[in-house]
Amino acid sequence: MRQPLIAGNWKMNKTVAEGEALARAIQEGLQTQMVEVVLCPPFIAIPAVHAVIQGSSIRLGAQNLHWEDAGAFTGEISPVMLKEWCQYVIIGHSERRQHFHEDDEMVRRKVAAALRHGLTPILCVGETLAQREAGETGAVVATQTRRALEGLSPEQAARLVIAYEPVWAIGTGRAATGEDAEEVIRRWIRGTLEAIFGVEVAQRVRVLYGGSVTPENIAEFVCRPTIDGALVGGASLKAESFLGIIHETARVKA
Ligand code: PEP
Repeated sequence: MRQPLIAGNWKMNKTVAEGEALARAIQEGLQTQMVEVVLCPPFIAIPAVHAVIQGSSIRLGAQNLHWEDAGAFTGEISPVMLKEWCQYVIIGHSERRQHFHEDDEMVRRKVAAALRHGLTPILCVGETLAQREAGETGAVVATQTRRALEGLSPEQAARLVIAYEPVWAIGTGRAATGEDAEEVIRRWIRGTLEAIFGVEVAQRVRVLYGGSVTPENIAEFVCRPTIDGALVGGASLKAESFLGIIHETARVKA
């Protein structure tokens, strides 16, 4: 029903030439159509990566956007600019929330702007270690999800991808357990979607896990029916490990 999805967040890595080479290696090594593959390079590499993957099943995503269409916002990129190249856009990544002070209201505006222009948001939600230790995981994840989706119609909400990314698991080599991720996604992400938009929307939205995913641990997550794939950081920077994650997902979901 829901197509598995593996998205690679390159963050602030790779020159344009390096990005082209990585995209080419991923395209050449890809052996499945079952999993949707999304590459999210830095803005500057988007046109070059677009040229490399043109005609293939690989999709392109941005790592951020501004909510306005155009204007005096030095250094920002608008959805109007992105939609020429991308199908997806990561919104509310914890690095943006932490280092660039993005709050739930900014995330909400970005989600609405992306949808208005036909881009699919990959909305990131997740708790910090302190919040987890204080027993606040459910409340944090549910609140981030609810605030990001305020004002959306059920049809718009159904188009979303949500990534559950516990902040303590990102880039640390310390992934959540599959059991834990499944519980948070089922109760606090799909549960929140169901409470707001109904059961059909809650079942249509694709939900990913993110945080130190590798070819060795991906099966632990995607073997669970409620987890549709992964948002991958570090392991998306090498074709071999990224392809390993994609192919393992195809094997497990088959
Ligand atoms: C991420 O940046 O979204 C991420 C999950 O990173 P990593 O896979 O490196 O933990």
